[in-house]
Amino acid sequence: MADNKTADLLYTTFMSYLRQNKLRETYERRVIAQTVGLLGERFDIDSLTVLLESKGEHISRATVYNTISLLVKAMLVVRHQFDSGQYFYEVQSAARNSNRLHLICTTCGKVSNMRSNKIVREVSEMKFGTFTPDYITLSVYGICSKCAKRSRRDQLNLFK
Ligand SMILES: [Zn+2]
Repeated sequence: MADNKTADLLYTTFMSYLRQNKLRETYERRVIAQTVGLLGERFDIDSLTVLLESKGEHISRATVYNTISLLVKAMLVVRHQFDSGQYFYEVQSAARNSNRLHLICTTCGKVSNMRSNKIVREVSEMKFGTFTPDYITLSVYGICSKCAKRSRRDQLNLFK
């Protein structure tokens, strides 16, 4: 779970993003932004829709999807992609408060973190021309140990 400060910041930033872009601050958008702000971990559209439903908020999958797309545009949520083409999302401020590498398993979607001060420092010391960087996230895509073990086991079974 992300802390309340993260949730508050995400919510207020999103509301001002909507205002600045002359988009409506609908009830659904408010509820989704509040709920997403409390998610510290990765999530996908389906699990978020189910979570909203369990809180008694009947919001269509399409509305959830559209609102998440706006949160991605507002750079409050990051979108990652599996090899299968499926997407999952992560609250940006949770990813932001650490100089960590995100290790993302493309098979099961597990996200783990690794400290790497050296690489983060090197990237942050880079010059970006006239572009002013705000924050940097680094994601490494690959296979987690569990999935690697499973695929080795499956391969062995093929030869039995
Ligand atoms: Zn995995």
